[in-house]
Amino acid sequence: MTIASKASLECAKELDQKDKIAPYRDQFHIPKDNNGNNWIYMCGNSLGLQPKTTKKYIQQELEDWANLGVEGHVEAKNPWMPYHEFLTDAMAKVVGAKPLEVVIMNTLTTNLHLLMVSFYQPDKTKYKIVIESDAFPSDRYAVESQLRFHDFDPKEGLIEWKPRPGEELLRLGDLETILDQQGNEIALLLIGGVNYYTGQYLDLKKIADLGHAKNCIVGIDLAHGVGNIQPELHNSGIDFAAWCTYKYLNSGPGSLGGLFVHEKHAYNKDLKRFAGWWSHNKETRFNMRQEFDIMPGAEGYQLSNPPILSMAAIKASLDIFNEVGMDALRKKSKALTGYFEFLINQIDTDRIKIITPTNPEERGCQLSIQVKNADKRLHQQLTDHHIITDWREPDVIRCAPTPLYNSFEDVYRMIEILKTLI
Ligand SMILES: *Cc1c(COP(=O)(O)O)cnc(C)c1O
Repeated sequence: MTIASKASLECAKELDQKDKIAPYRDQFHIPKDNNGNNWIYMCGNSLGLQPKTTKKYIQQELEDWANLGVEGHVEAKNPWMPYHEFLTDAMAKVVGAKPLEVVIMNTLTTNLHLLMVSFYQPDKTKYKIVIESDAFPSDRYAVESQLRFHDFDPKEGLIEWKPRPGEELLRLGDLETILDQQGNEIALLLIGGVNYYTGQYLDLKKIADLGHAKNCIVGIDLAHGVGNIQPELHNSGIDFAAWCTYKYLNSGPGSLGGLFVHEKHAYNKDLKRFAGWWSHNKETRFNMRQEFDIMPGAEGYQLSNPPILSMAAIKASLDIFNEVGMDALRKKSKALTGYFEFLINQIDTDRIKIITPTNPEERGCQLSIQVKNADKRLHQQLTDHHIITDWREPDVIRCAPTPLYNSFEDVYRMIEILKTLI
């Protein structure tokens, strides 16, 4: 195929026709303009779209609550007491973990704190925490507050893993240097598996090996990775991870988060942690006046009985992921983002630079596009054309063509409009 014919609407439509996952687009509510045309929604990295089945899943729980009241804990079609268990297998598959290692509970930042209660155990000499310099603000605030909580000064205790001057991406060699120089003082690495700003997907196994060689605990924030890449959490050997489910997992605004604790820690009852009745052995939980008996694995991190309506939305979404499978999803994702990249590179301008890695193994679906001399007006103009992207100061548009509901035609039309704006 010539470059010109590949960069055509016909080609985009043909790619959609050949795409086995394309029919899933119809399973999502795609927002529309006043003329009934679909928006081009490239913001699944911020808030995923709603599966059409979500309403039915939530409706089921509303009906069971209406008809059964408290009896729904046991008698509901999907009994509420063990409801989180209905999500575990599918969730574990999406992140490449064993069911023992995964639970859905709370929200992301809360889970990071609960995990750090167990896994950030500093002493006077080994107390520093490494994060990426471009870490998501909530993660930065979380680790700074953990340092302060243990009476350390974040200015001293927080080490930033930075891109080199003039570069955007992180190099593992630089993390290795940090660990060689200060490893004896570092207690924890808390790294975004896929960086929210650049879209860079880091090699989790290498990070785990580097950290563990210096006796550091390795934790991963997977907010931009879950449902987007295949992180193989168990095999990576990392100690813990946390993520949200409202981005690529399409479970609705503010929905619950997920947590991974590696099997090697599952039976360690001596790990310090915060507890509640939902971390207690489920066989005897309701005997109440018993001595605390912690559950093994990730389940033992739960505190409270969870909000079932949000859990139902997660179930609706995970059922779709389970049906499609991450292998097929990732394959389409590479093709779709690859096509997006190809079209961007065809734009005749020197104002545009993609800062996301070019190697498909080092990125998920997102491309972060830097536009020289642009400001937020460009983002507004895109939005006026119902192209939903995400703007990061000073000059980056983050676009996430997600394989479940974005089409090759979406990507083509987005570029046609971007061309007219720059
Ligand atoms: C989206 C995101 C968050 C948001 O945290 P919440 O606790 O869910 O509000 C935190 N960290 C990262 C890296 C994120 O991408």
